[in-house]
Amino acid sequence: MLSMEEQKVLVEQILGSPLPQLDEIYMQGAKLYDTTAPNRFITPYLLSLLYTPFEMKLVLQLPGSAEEVAEKLGLETEPVREALDRLLRYGRLLPLKKGRPGYAPSVDVMTIRDQIGMAYNAQGLDWNQEMPLFRLMEAWRQMPNPPQALIDAIHGSFRVIPKYASIKHLPGVMYCENLREIMQSFQEVGKFALQKCVCRSYKSYLDRGEYSADHCQCGFHEHSPKDSHCMTFGTRADYAVEHFGGHYATQEELERCLKEIDESTAIVSAHNKRQIDFICSCCDDCCAMADLEHHGLPIRIPSRFRPSVKEDACVGCGLCESRCVFDAVHVENGTASIREDKCMGCGSCVVTCPAGALRMQVVHDVDWIPDYWADDNNWNIPGENTADYIEKLRAGQD
Ligand code: SF4
Ligand code: SF4
Ligand code: SF4
Repeated sequence: MLSMEEQKVLVEQILGSPLPQLDEIYMQGAKLYDTTAPNRFITPYLLSLLYTPFEMKLVLQLPGSAEEVAEKLGLETEPVREALDRLLRYGRLLPLKKGRPGYAPSVDVMTIRDQIGMAYNAQGLDWNQEMPLFRLMEAWRQMPNPPQALIDAIHGSFRVIPKYASIKHLPGVMYCENLREIMQSFQEVGKFALQKCVCRSYKSYLDRGEYSADHCQCGFHEHSPKDSHCMTFGTRADYAVEHFGGHYATQEELERCLKEIDESTAIVSAHNKRQIDFICSCCDDCCAMADLEHHGLPIRIPSRFRPSVKEDACVGCGLCESRCVFDAVHVENGTASIREDKCMGCGSCVVTCPAGALRMQVVHDVDWIPDYWADDNNWNIPGENTADYIEKLRAGQD
């Protein structure tokens, strides 16, 4: 953890001025982050760039509806609603679950970061006007030595989904780990959306001050400005289309996405549960999840699969080693071997082995994947398997 003095210098550098005098309300706001980010000198300064003092006051009353917040504070409802709607539109708040209209604060700066970036992309806003905010969020996120409470809170909240081509031949693949089936079933009911990758946008703007399609050298096609591999499903897809510049994917886009994901070294990840609402496919260069992992926050767990090496087939070409972003496969004395403690079961090495010497095996029982997150209040994710949800949509019951 940086000392208070070092954090102070960092904030002054980013703001480009001596520290401003902050309203007391931001100290109260910072308490929201006490567990996951204790002793962060940065937090109130970050909040002062996210919210006006009036907005911060409203946020401290959430979750709830505009009526509830107005009543708690003894204010007129309409100005409160207008302020909360504006915060929602610019990604500074989350919507409450369908069926209970209202707003929720995000006590996780990563989520705010993603929401704001998506709002900026969708509305074509000028990122450069908010650079101090974006830089403070990056500094907040990358603070070394994260507290154990934060590690516990986010450990395993995501899971790697194997490349489809690496597991398509295997029996017993679950719906929530079968990328083609997930994409296909949601596409058929018009609930599969694609949107521009916000991590790529952050990386590009923070490094170059502009969106740059050729910023990354990984060869992942998604980096052209018009393409996208950031996927949302169900109600979340509707929200992405309505608010974050997403579009519903065609069958052709689905096929192209799947092919490019298989060919690239991008890692596919989803929330670690059986209800699929979001899938990320990002290369190590820009992915915020990979970045968290490089900073000691193990946000993802491996898939249920791991490759085994057929030693007599391996020709020692080393392609698997160069494809593995987790440093989990090494070629020694002409034969590849897998580091079980490092392998995330992404299948990147399997799909391109020219000798067919790598084959995925199931290494974890189905219990590896939690059935349901009971406290997930932000999206309309039914408490049942996604496959059943799709059936309901097909039958027009949702
Ligand atoms: S592709 Fe992944 S890393 Fe990029 S914005 Fe989407 S979720 Fe984030
Ligand atoms: S890519 Fe296949 S053949 Fe080449 S070293 Fe790896 S396992 Fe062996
Ligand atoms: S060895 Fe590396 S590339 Fe292969 S499945 Fe494991 S993590 Fe992925």
